[in-house]
Amino acid sequence: MNPTIQSAINKQINEELFSAYLYLAIASYAGSKGFPGLQNWMTVQAQEEIDHAMGFQIHLLRRGGEVELDAIEKPAKEFGSPLDMVKAGLEHEKHISGCINDLFDLAQKEKDFAFQSFLTWYIDEQVEEEEGAQELIDKMTILGDNGPGVLALDKELAARAYKPSSILIQ
Ligand code: MG
Repeated sequence: MNPTIQSAINKQINEELFSAYLYLAIASYAGSKGFPGLQNWMTVQAQEEIDHAMGFQIHLLRRGGEVELDAIEKPAKEFGSPLDMVKAGLEHEKHISGCINDLFDLAQKEKDFAFQSFLTWYIDEQVEEEEGAQELIDKMTILGDNGPGVLALDKELAARAYKPSSILIQ
């Protein structure tokens, strides 16, 4: 295994696990503020992030690499309004999209074609992540402080169910 790629994958495992931690923090905050639907939506996000981390872990092991787990950074505790909570998620996803793009750039420089192929799943996934957060931001912005509307949207978010990510089936 190319050591530069190996260390970049280990770093990305940490990024994805931090994402899970961040969403778990936002989920907890949403729950504490009376938004159980948003709590559920953010919890599903957190579960998906663990899958993203495990996708990299599995790829590294399949390539004969070594997984090295680092300490996970402490996330924030307070996130403001439901709109601010989703905005924090979107900002983070933009950062992750940048990380994935950097990994693809590295895979090209190092001529690691298998890693390039593997990363296309994450490139597509980031489009979905940013799109999903933006859609929610748009809905919340339209609702503004329309209480019944906000509660109806929260009920809708309660219906989101976790499904194991397709990246785990390799
Ligand atoms: Mg992710």
